[in-house]
Amino acid sequence: MRGSGVESTGSFRYIIAKPIREIKNGLSGLSPDLLKRIKIMIVLGIETSCDETAAAVVNDKREILANRVLSQLDDHRPYGGVVPEIAARAHLEHLDRLVAEAMDDAGVEFDDLDAVACTGGPGLIGGVMVGTMTAKAIAFAAQKPFLAVNHLEGHALTVRLTDDVPFPYLLLLVSGGHCQVLIVEGVGKYKRIGTTIDDAVGEAFDKTAKMLGLGYPGGPALEKVAAKGDPNRFGLPRPLRGRPGCDFSFSGLKTAVRTYMDGFPVEQQTEEVKADLAASFQRAVGDTLIDRARNAVFEFMRDYPEGKTLVLAGGVAANKYLRGRLVELTDQAGMQLVAPPLELCTDNAAMIAWAGLERFRLGERDDLDFKPRPRWPLDPEAPKRPGAGVKA
Ligand code: ADP
Ligand code: MG
Repeated sequence: MRGSGVESTGSFRYIIAKPIREIKNGLSGLSPDLLKRIKIMIVLGIETSCDETAAAVVNDKREILANRVLSQLDDHRPYGGVVPEIAARAHLEHLDRLVAEAMDDAGVEFDDLDAVACTGGPGLIGGVMVGTMTAKAIAFAAQKPFLAVNHLEGHALTVRLTDDVPFPYLLLLVSGGHCQVLIVEGVGKYKRIGTTIDDAVGEAFDKTAKMLGLGYPGGPALEKVAAKGDPNRFGLPRPLRGRPGCDFSFSGLKTAVRTYMDGFPVEQQTEEVKADLAASFQRAVGDTLIDRARNAVFEFMRDYPEGKTLVLAGGVAANKYLRGRLVELTDQAGMQLVAPPLELCTDNAAMIAWAGLERFRLGERDDLDFKPRPRWPLDPEAPKRPGAGVKA
């Protein structure tokens, strides 16, 4: 087998001890009528939109019965970033096995499923096609409903699986490919109030880490080095700070780090300089994020006084410093910060199965001729150009 990266073995606290088949067997003495009423809805989810190949099974009791994630980090590390062609081939090579393992973990057969959900976009099209074709084939063969889930909707609804958070809530989605603020009013009802005008936060972490020679993926490496550095040594910009609205910008910050770095002769680019630059960068990201999130919280509290929760999702949610800054903000605002456990913040299939389940129980499903969508905004009404139409 090729370098297959980190594999989760399914040790989440959400996994129920008994496979579904045993539960069903245990219920066999009950009347068919009662059985029907307590029927558990089970959905298989598939995620292949970027560099994680994943399959999971969840039920409507908010239990994750199986959650297999195969990270492709090792495959992409030599290139310092995700290579779409390599990603698509790796999905193709591993997905069938992961689906079989997930079904086995959950103790279910295709026949036991109520629906099959997959990421239908947005993402790298080769990977999305692999996942979509697989999900359609299973749905067709097993004669089950099929749901093509928006990957961002998966991130947006995860906290309802993990923490049962009621609508409406404010969502800060920060990952390698996405950087958005959304108001989640309900399933399928998303209002985007901010987005990045250039790089996503995770992307800025990755690129800055690469510049500092910290390796790939950059986010965790940079956070580790930053802990040893002086965040006040280098004066870096705080893009868009003080401006109205909730949009973000990170590319200027990244360029400023490069300018400092290039200002040092190679022999003076010491570990200390790198740690101080990393710490200064992380502090600047924190200041920018908080400034923009504060505007979002203000707008949310004004328009949705019943909402009390800021949800943090996406891989950058792993960053303890940024989490701490956001807790300060929500404490000040009288809100609570909720972030799913890390394994469910980064790309996974449990969130896709769950979003599929939420849509399915509202009576939704998709046709088998659904076309994978490399671009798929969660809020089609949001202005095309970030910043346009943002309320002061
Ligand atoms: P995507 O698939 O869109 O890249 P993921 O949800 O898989 O996003 O998250 C990966 C991103 O999260 C990467 O950009 C990575 O650098 C970033 N990331 C992970 N851990 C940290 C951290 N501790 N600090 C900052 N960024 C992080
Ligand atoms: Mg990823």
